Amino acid sequence: MEVILVRPTGYCLGVTSAIRLGLQAKSEHPSETIFMLGLLVHNEDAVAYMRSLGFEILDERNAPLEEQLSNLEDGSIVLFSAHGHPESFDAIAKKKNLIVYDATCRYVKENLDYARAHAGKGIVYIGAKGHLEAESFRQNAAFSGFYDVKSQSLLTRPPMDAAIALTQTTLSEEDIELALESLRREYPQIKLEKGRCHATSSRQEALKKELQKGVDAAFIIGSELSSNTKKLRDIAQSYGVKTFMALNLEELKKLDLPRYCRVILASGASTSIEEVRRCQDYLVSLSS
Ligand code: SF4
Repeated sequence: MEVILVRPTGYCLGVTSAIRLGLQAKSEHPSETIFMLGLLVHNEDAVAYMRSLGFEILDERNAPLEEQLSNLEDGSIVLFSAHGHPESFDAIAKKKNLIVYDATCRYVKENLDYARAHAGKGIVYIGAKGHLEAESFRQNAAFSGFYDVKSQSLLTRPPMDAAIALTQTTLSEEDIELALESLRREYPQIKLEKGRCHATSSRQEALKKELQKGVDAAFIIGSELSSNTKKLRDIAQSYGVKTFMALNLEELKKLDLPRYCRVILASGASTSIEEVRRCQDYLVSLSS
């Protein structure tokens, strides 16, 4: 089986920095519990690694993060996730004298900074309702409208005609185009100014390039929790290619795979390079 590795692979800048910051917090507070607010990055293996180092995870699926943060003892140590957080969390942290390590990715911050600098122009943010990055933006830039890519609808209107569209960092070009098409009916002047990060767009473009050459199947390595990884799967499927998604080698091995001649191997921005290599070696070994 010929296995074409789609690059870039490995952790993106935001994930690398978040894990590094977590390790720094641990080395500065070796004997104390550090609470990770939500999943630091959207990959179960990376989160399990942090847990193995003694981090405690406050999982948003159990109770609202704000409530869990409020319930921590004063002076606790917290690590904010790479996807951003509502500013109300900072206020709680200040009130409770929490020691904060903020792993918010710089690209997530840049979108928010841009919105604040252009608040008077009418902004619509395009994102996925329920995703921490999108929900944090909604709260931190409440002057913006919100277009949900899941329901493909404008859930909140800005207080004036919208001239600027911003997007969540991990959307696909197709999702964004669909949203813009719909928004232009209401706001003909609207223009996309900022959105996808390079880690997302470069992976998507590289995948499309390989798909255009023709392949028998596509393998996407990454988590179901990861928005950018799922977009890679959507893209491969949109080319009519048989597509498999697996978190890691263990999951990949469970798939009942027919014999393929030429396949693509791509991975999300929160999948480690080591995991991708393991999967690549395994797929190559299937042909021997
Ligand atoms: S996918 Fe992009 S926005 Fe998200 S953590 Fe990585 S670099 Fe940052």
